[in-house]
Amino acid sequence: MASIGLGVLGWTGGRRWRAIGAALIGGFLIDADHLFDYALARRYGHARMILPLHGWEYLPLIILLDRQIGARGALFAGFACHLTLDQIWNEKRSPLAYFLLYRALRNFRADSLGPEDPARRHRWRHASPAGLVRWM
Ligand SMILES: [Zn+2]
Repeated sequence: MASIGLGVLGWTGGRRWRAIGAALIGGFLIDADHLFDYALARRYGHARMILPLHGWEYLPLIILLDRQIGARGALFAGFACHLTLDQIWNEKRSPLAYFLLYRALRNFRADSLGPEDPARRHRWRHASPAGLVRWM
């Protein structure tokens, strides 16, 4: 929802559909990496939590990309808003868990990054592919 709002602000300010698209990409597409982790878990088990698109380190790159495509800050705002909300609301074992480097230094071990009780949270990760569709 925040991404849509940011995109609308960009659109009304610049009358560009590009801003809405960029805000949606920055705000929603980042969660596509959960599908990556889901596929990894199906193949190798649930020991790792990589989430390759969730990383504060990407912000400088997102700013450059935003300027490159003329998104007027919407890509940056969508991405930053998404990560900020994840940072605030998602259960994690460290405030640094949304840094890719922090996760890499812990070998992406889910038991040192994610929720204290993974069985209670992220149950969708254990769903079958058909069950995953129901979660979406
Ligand atoms: Zn997220």
